Amino acid sequence: MAYISKDLRNQLDEDAGGLCGYCQTNQQNSGFRLQVEHLIPTAKGGLTVRENLWLACSSCNLRKSDREMVLDPESGVLVEFFNPRLQQWKDHFEWDDSGTVVVGLTEVGRATVKALEMNDTLLVEARKLWVRFGGHPPS
Ligand SMILES: [Zn+2]
Repeated sequence: MAYISKDLRNQLDEDAGGLCGYCQTNQQNSGFRLQVEHLIPTAKGGLTVRENLWLACSSCNLRKSDREMVLDPESGVLVEFFNPRLQQWKDHFEWDDSGTVVVGLTEVGRATVKALEMNDTLLVEARKLWVRFGGHPPS
């Protein structure tokens, strides 16, 4: 695991605003500190520099692993993962009416939702509680 200086971690915390770059889980809701995620995986030559890093929950980080490309389940097209540093979440995803299920709006969005299992049953159940207490979805 790459060394992350305190200054770099602070920058990443500021960039991500406490939210997983993919499923938008707030670390204050989960109680687990977000992990540093390499957008281009280190195994593929990605560097440990701010431009190639974002924060992600352990679930998204583990499921993304060292992959860069994923299949859109609807079109069958191979696309790059959503990039939380270069792309806007709202351009590719939205919350359903209950605020507990992430809906992919584009090939990139749908592929990322599926690959990272962003609507895992346990996570959706947790989001129901966060919604009830006003801590979700993020504005
Ligand atoms: Zn996540």
